[in-house]
Amino acid sequence: MADHCIFCKIANGEIPSATLYEDEDFRVILDLNPAALGHALILPKAHAANLFELPDETAAKALVLAKRISGKLKDGLNADGLNVVQNNGEAAGQTVFHFHMHLIPRYEGDTVNVKWKPGTLTDADKEKILNLF
Ligand code: 5GP
Ligand code: ZN
Repeated sequence: MADHCIFCKIANGEIPSATLYEDEDFRVILDLNPAALGHALILPKAHAANLFELPDETAAKALVLAKRISGKLKDGLNADGLNVVQNNGEAAGQTVFHFHMHLIPRYEGDTVNVKWKPGTLTDADKEKILNLF
């Protein structure tokens, strides 16, 4: 557990939260400032700042958990869709530097915005990226 990390304190029960689910590795809570009804956060109990620091085993479990909780939220709230959002780094919109996954139920005509302006994949960019792998 990292000192001064609010999500460490929430995940480990030091700060109370609206908890939807808990096991030995994770706590799933309601976001305090939801983008839409049912906006939930999956928090691992062990501190990792972001996806790059997350152990493989935790990463694998997180997606299975996201699937399970998302289905329950979508069905229970009669949502029309659901976004799984996960921000890494300030430039990507991360504001709390303890890995978390957003589960955001979506409703036709809601005000949630996770869109971007589509760009163009140039040959030079494609070459550069393919050469990384
Ligand atoms: P990020 O921008 O880092 O991907 O997302 C951080 C999220 O955590 C935001 O959606 C914000 O509303 C939520 N959040 C920040 N502090 C708290 C808190 O103390 N409790 C809860 N439940 N959510 C929080
Ligand atoms: Zn933490």
